[in-house]
Amino acid sequence: MNKPKIVILGAGYGGMMATVRLTKELSADEADITLVNKHNYHYQTTWLHEAAAGTIHHDRTRMLIKNVINTNRVHFVQDTVRSIDHKNNKVILKNGEIDYDYLVIALGFESNTFGIKGLDEHAFAIRSVNTARKIREHIEYRFASYNSDPDAKDSDLTIVVGGAGLSGVEFLGELVDRIPELCREYDVDPKKVRIVDVEGMPFVLPPFDRTLAEYAQKYLESKGVEFKLNTFIKEATPEGVKVQLKGSEELEEIKAGTVVWTGGVKASHIPEDSGFETNRGKIQVTPDLRSPEDDHVFAIGDVAVVFPPDAERPYPPTAQIAIQEAENLAKNFKHILHGEPTEPFVYKPKGTVASLGEKEAIGVVFDHKLTGKPAAAMKKVIDDRYLLMLGGVGLVLKKGKLKFL
Ligand code: FAD
Ligand code: NAD
Repeated sequence: MNKPKIVILGAGYGGMMATVRLTKELSADEADITLVNKHNYHYQTTWLHEAAAGTIHHDRTRMLIKNVINTNRVHFVQDTVRSIDHKNNKVILKNGEIDYDYLVIALGFESNTFGIKGLDEHAFAIRSVNTARKIREHIEYRFASYNSDPDAKDSDLTIVVGGAGLSGVEFLGELVDRIPELCREYDVDPKKVRIVDVEGMPFVLPPFDRTLAEYAQKYLESKGVEFKLNTFIKEATPEGVKVQLKGSEELEEIKAGTVVWTGGVKASHIPEDSGFETNRGKIQVTPDLRSPEDDHVFAIGDVAVVFPPDAERPYPPTAQIAIQEAENLAKNFKHILHGEPTEPFVYKPKGTVASLGEKEAIGVVFDHKLTGKPAAAMKKVIDDRYLLMLGGVGLVLKKGKLKFL
């Protein structure tokens, strides 16, 4: 093989970090690197709940890819991946095709609506800069219309959030910061606004430490959020949602002007639709993060699934694991190109911190529980650490959060 061509699909956490690390691990003579992404910008999904509520501008969550990667080393292609023809080492794009010697699939996640009636049509999902922007504008439009549209109803000011996992709870935390501002701006009586979270499990944040989850629930309730636990969203309609309490036959309607679904995610449909063998839509990768069917194809981030040793449940899909996978992948490319054995990927979880708006948070970091301001500060440290790893001090100064403390 001449100089091998490495093609990376997706410029999220996994794809961006893999690209940046590959340019450091490999010299220009060792490989050609191409990065393909739908947009010319990289966005931080982990900040999108803030952009969706309108507590930060969406431009703070994104950065131009050309400002972060070394464009002398990386060929950037702005295009949408349609499918992967891995029998012929080819990626089919909306506007053409690309050949590869090695492929890295890092196409991330899609919202999972589990076939629930009406959700695709009548609910929003926090998935990208564009979907976050739509949610912010929709909520603001509801407030702007309330005093100007003769047909406006009180229920137009109700926001239903579907699911109280980490995304749902973080979004609720931003909403309780944002709604008082919107009320002031549009002369709306705060008592008219309802924020209702519907969660199928008997408690919020099902996989989280219980005392921290209760802290989050109590904090959000103190700010006016109503939780409907043990309750499932069964349908979304133009008027709101229909929900069902566990064990009940009855459906209850909650009228709402805005429904935001945070009830789950799944992998990008591209690997499965391209014929890769998958486990619930994800490529169950080998210890060095390759497809078991094709050792020239790697998968990282939310399109890959990795199991802890001897465990039945895989690691959850997070930015944290995507970043660590990207680092392992870049090192392994050096080994592969030098004919050396690869290093198996070993995940080192550092903990989880969930924001509850600007000044509150909960988290477990290296087995230490945090709440309140220290947790909120830790969340900003985590956000800035990623920027530091990706683009150095310059990127932290440009986009970081700690300077806003
Ligand atoms: P993504 O970050 O989803 O990136 C995929 C990239 O591929 C995107 O740039 C996308 O535009 C591009 N793309 C997709 N399809 C195509 C296509 N067909 N053609 C071309 N380009 C395409 N995890 C944490 O660890 N900590 C957190 O605090 C945290 N907070 C979160 C908050 C929210 C609101 C949400 C929704 C998730 C959060 N997560 C968090 C989970 C985390 O965001 C994901 O696990 C992570 O984004 C996965 O990274 P990735 O690189 O696999 O994919
Ligand atoms: P999730 O799958 O973790 O949570 C979805 C929630 O929706 C669950 O509590 C589930 O019981 C509930 N649900 C599902 N169907 C329902 C229905 N019909 N009616 C009512 N409730 C229903 O999804 P997520 O919160 O989007 O998280 C996705 C991934 O991103 C996870 O791996 C998570 O760890 C990660 N994440 C991490 C952070 C962080 O570290 N701060 C923040 C957000 C997301």
